Order: sequence, then structure tokens, then C-alpha cells
Amino acid sequence: MSLKRSGMLAWLGIGLILMAWTESQAQPAVYVVNYPLHYFAERIGAEQVHVVFPAPAGEDPAFWKPHVETIAAFQAADLILINGAGYAKWLKTASLPKSKMIDTSRRFKADYIEIQDAGTHSHGPTGEHSHAGTAFTTWLDFRQAAQQAEAVTEGLSRLLPEHKDTFEQRYAELEQDLLALDERLEAIVARQRARPLLASHPIYQYLAKRYGLNLQSVLWEPEVMPNDEQWDGLQSILETHAAAWMLWEGSPLPASAAKLQALGAGSLVFDPCGNTPEQGDFLSVMQQNVARLQQAFQ
Ligand SMILES: [Zn+2]
Repeated sequence: MSLKRSGMLAWLGIGLILMAWTESQAQPAVYVVNYPLHYFAERIGAEQVHVVFPAPAGEDPAFWKPHVETIAAFQAADLILINGAGYAKWLKTASLPKSKMIDTSRRFKADYIEIQDAGTHSHGPTGEHSHAGTAFTTWLDFRQAAQQAEAVTEGLSRLLPEHKDTFEQRYAELEQDLLALDERLEAIVARQRARPLLASHPIYQYLAKRYGLNLQSVLWEPEVMPNDEQWDGLQSILETHAAAWMLWEGSPLPASAAKLQALGAGSLVFDPCGNTPEQGDFLSVMQQNVARLQQAFQ
């Protein structure tokens, strides 16, 4: 091989590497504030976008406070997907470019639920927080989740108009999955909607509202044994609200579950999936949630 020819091949190689690099750089960066939006954006945007959800595992993204560098990364993103309904408290004080931001629950703002008399408590490394204000786990009403996914689709289509048809096709599939969950849950609860249920944490407001659940909430953590005062509080709830099941965000301590069982209530996990699940994805976690909730209606 002549020197000239091998030189040309080398340039060709570098050229190809550069092209591949430019293509990966050309993928617009989409920053999201919670796992449901991460899942929706990845299903709809797929290889056309680079979706980033920076909240670390073990944190509740609703109350998590990002570092300055992470906020700067949000500011530099091509698209920012927020949940709305007061989710991700840090957004209140950060200044993000409004033109790049999509509030995915805005279209059903009129249906937001305001929480009455919420106490302050702490869970996780974020410290004390309160659930006062607007209830924010909007996606646990699966029809609302579909509307949020639709807002994601619109945002992505605005960003990459040449892929609009593809995004809409992918959205149609995702919508089917979400509405199938909605129908299944509706069918499960339809006969015995009034059956009293307990929730370990005030995060199931939209689930209760959409499916007409008779749900009363306490402020317990799966990984903490409730104190005597909390057990007393539960007993007084049970006097007028004879629930046979409590919904938990994660598996409760065996000791909590046993004591609860002694009071007549079983434990079942309904994971809101605000952060990335350890196993599976949004859809499989929700399918498992619905299957577990079915026990409470048998
Ligand atoms: Zn809380």
C-alpha cells in the first residue's frame, strides 16, 4: 500500500469516527424531574433523544435538592419536562428557561387535589418535609398519566418536528398500555368501591379519586416501626374505618406488618415509582401494583 493511500484511509477512518461522534452529540438532551417522565420520554423519544433523570437512587425526587451543577445542566438542556402540581420543590427557587420547559400536568390543572392539614415529617436523606399544598403523584390516575405522556409527545415533536409521526405512533402504543391499566383497575374495584382501605403515606390521592377508593392515610414509613402514638392514631381510625388492607410505598418492616395484621389489616405494596425501580420499568411496576391491589378486593 502506498503511503498516500494509507494516509487517505486514515483520514477516512477519522472522518467516520467524527461523524458518529457528531450524531451522538446531535441527540437533543431532555431533562426530566421524575421516573415516570423518564419512562415516557424514553418510550416516545427513543433513539432520537438523550433523556437524563439526574435524581440519585434512594432519594424522593419530589423533595430532592439538586446541586448547582445539576441545575446548570437542566438550564442547558434542549427540553425540560416537569411534572407540575408542585412536584420537585427545588423548581420553585431555580430559574430555568421557560421556553424549553413543559409542564406535563398543566392540561388537567383544574383537577389538582389540595391537601388539607398535612403534618411535617422526614424521610430519606432530604430531611423534613411537608405534604401540604398540591398532591403531586398525578400519574397514579392512569388517564392523567396518559395526558402527561401526550404532553411529552408534543414537547418532543416541537423539538424534532421531522420525527413527529414516529413520536405520535409510539405515544399511541404507550397510551394503550396506560389505558389498559386504567380499565383493569377500574374493573377490580368496581364491585366493592366502598371497601375501607388504609395508606401508609399521603401519596395516593389521585388513585383514590379516579377509582373511587375509600382510602384513609397515615404518615408512616416502610422502613421505620411506627411509635406508640402512631399506633394509637391508627386504632382510632380503625374504629370508624375497618380497613382490611394498608397500601405501602415499599415493603414494610416485618414487625410493622405483623402488628398491623394483628389489628386486622394486611399489607400490600403499591409503589408510586417516583424514582427508578430496582427491577422492571414503569409499566411492569404498575402492573404488579394493580395485581397486588386486586387481593384487597377479592
Ligand atoms: Zn412524606
